[in-house]
Amino acid sequence: MKKNIEIKIDQNAGFCFGVVAAIHRAEQELLKTNKLYCLGDIVHNNVEVERLAQKGLSVITYSDFDKLSEAKVLIRAHGEPPTTYEKAEKHNITLIDATCPIVLHLQQRIKKGYEEMKSLNGQVVIFGKKGHAEVIGLQGQTENSAIVISSIDEMNCIDINRPIRLYSQTTKSKESYQELIEQLSKKCSEIGNDNFIAYNTICNRVANRASELIEFAKSVDIIIFVSGTNSSNGKYLYECCKKVKNNTLFISDEKELKVEMFENINKIGITGATSTPMWLMEKIEEWLHQNV
Ligand code: SF4
Repeated sequence: MKKNIEIKIDQNAGFCFGVVAAIHRAEQELLKTNKLYCLGDIVHNNVEVERLAQKGLSVITYSDFDKLSEAKVLIRAHGEPPTTYEKAEKHNITLIDATCPIVLHLQQRIKKGYEEMKSLNGQVVIFGKKGHAEVIGLQGQTENSAIVISSIDEMNCIDINRPIRLYSQTTKSKESYQELIEQLSKKCSEIGNDNFIAYNTICNRVANRASELIEFAKSVDIIIFVSGTNSSNGKYLYECCKKVKNNTLFISDEKELKVEMFENINKIGITGATSTPMWLMEKIEEWLHQNV
């Protein structure tokens, strides 16, 4: 390696602590047993899912879960609705619950809001992606009565004449949630509905990611952005990087790197999506140390 070259990995990149903890729980459990099921992918990253599959973690669907009995099943960081816990009890399934504490807290808040809305003929509204695992768990707290909207365009589903409690899926964009709050609040005040409360429930780990990433990109000459091509979060964060650092490379693994890419470069930054494992970025770092 050239003497004057500096390589740094973005310390804010990699899995969030909720996912890290879930993977840790899975690995601890797999040391005791060689068969553990996971309800859905533990993380949206094929390389990591494959790595854990080698250790004995089998991904199952809800319909597989319905047929299981006397087994151990991991609940991933996204959490699950109450029906999953009920089914597990009925079928003698041991749950290894790795629901992220932030998601768990949100589930509890929504449950409380739902009880309140029931007594006031109000509505619980969740700003989130329909069918997303976390949203299924959140909706379950309201006996599936919560209204789920994924964008401001769907705001018409909400009856603005009735009380409203608004929550967001933890990974939604802070800006679009803020815009939804403002528009709904404006509509409610126009007709004199003062029983609208919006809660700040976006995870800071996600909300601050783009601004942290921009700062990191500014501090180096070139960015190697590591992500799966199918990650929407990866695409978004790559664009954020590219805006401030035109010299940003998007790669999925070290095989896509070439020595000539680093001519006249002194500082190299390695970063990635929230679904990019740290070990993969370390592998890229190692390649750079050996080849550049
Ligand atoms: S709430 Fe935040 S820390 Fe928890 S799993 Fe979601 S993104 Fe990760």
